Amino acid sequence: MSRRPDLLVPRMAEHTTSIFGEMSTLATRTGAINLGQGFPDTDGPQVLKDAAIAAIQDGHGNQYPPPHGLPALREAIALHQRRFYDLAVDPGLGVVVGTGASEILQSAILALVDEGEEVLVFEPWFDIYAAGISLARGRRVGVPLAGPELRPDIDALRAAVTPRTRVILINSPHNPTGIVFTPAELSAVAQVALDHDLLVISDEAYEHLWFDDNRHVPIATLPGMWERTVTVGSGGKTFSFTGWKVGWASGPADLIAAVRVVRQHLSYVSGGPFQYAMARGLGLPDAYFTEFRADMAGKRDLLAAGLADLGLRVLPTQGTYFISTDVRPLGFRDGLDFCRELPARAGVVAIPHQALCDDPEVGAPYVRWAFCKRPEVLQEALDRLTAALG
Ligand SMILES: *Cc1c(COP(=O)(O)O)cnc(C)c1O
Repeated sequence: MSRRPDLLVPRMAEHTTSIFGEMSTLATRTGAINLGQGFPDTDGPQVLKDAAIAAIQDGHGNQYPPPHGLPALREAIALHQRRFYDLAVDPGLGVVVGTGASEILQSAILALVDEGEEVLVFEPWFDIYAAGISLARGRRVGVPLAGPELRPDIDALRAAVTPRTRVILINSPHNPTGIVFTPAELSAVAQVALDHDLLVISDEAYEHLWFDDNRHVPIATLPGMWERTVTVGSGGKTFSFTGWKVGWASGPADLIAAVRVVRQHLSYVSGGPFQYAMARGLGLPDAYFTEFRADMAGKRDLLAAGLADLGLRVLPTQGTYFISTDVRPLGFRDGLDFCRELPARAGVVAIPHQALCDDPEVGAPYVRWAFCKRPEVLQEALDRLTAALG
């Protein structure tokens, strides 16, 4: 049977290919080490596995759990927000659980952005934001992360506001750059939202992956921001079980009610036994979160030092799984060319920022490297890079 090539609705045409898919295919074909995709190559805590297995064995969560999330998990999320950020979240009406932060983000965009409304998003952005805004028939308006260390350009953010602007979508700790917004930058973003009565969707998937003294601060903790902010978390990222796909949002009841309406009509519910495990994880002592950060910071240091030795300019990595480098010191102008060449030449895969920007000039010189891998894998990648580029 022949198929028309144009069955896909036009607004999704630009989202047909994903740079992560393209680069992972290249990795498989060439046997390259995949520092492109951001998932750990070791699992999270055994107690979470035990909790998920016990839930399955004991018949907890094997049938549809409550649509907005298991009460025990909603309670654990509220306690977590209180414990780490002193935020008072209502576990009854102020939390929604879904199939990963991904589904929660798409639900929030679909719930809050109407046709033709604009979403301000710093670029480079995480690719699902772009697709979510298109699904909602909204319009994404990119605002560059600027300067040699890719910081939010607040003047550009303010200048990008129009009467159609509805939402500022922020992500800190930030994928792909690895920056963590400073309190001053968050205050400046908040002021733009307050001045123009905008909503904020805050993707905090890496809330526990900040390093050194670059502490993560939820924008919802700033004056006047709780009322207008949906705060998104990811159990996959926080507990190194990215395959389990449990994410959540918290916020004021009116915003969460809107997100719940859309979310319940997407996946209806999210994996029951994993929700028990995530509730267990959120209650782990501080030592878990501290050691998680320290372990990941050590991996960052290993990869950052090696990339710097190659002659790349390594940007400060304040959080997330990712280091960004400027490839120009090695004589490349373009990160996309660099990344397309790298698997065959060096046996390593990385992701160009350019593929995550509307303005190709914004991301052109930068490449993202995932360091959430075992030290021996990072060392092997560095050895290969040194042999090919050193
Ligand atoms: C991984 C990631 C997500 C998605 O999280 P899941 O819980 O796996 O759906 C959202 N935002 C950012 C910035 C991410 O890196």
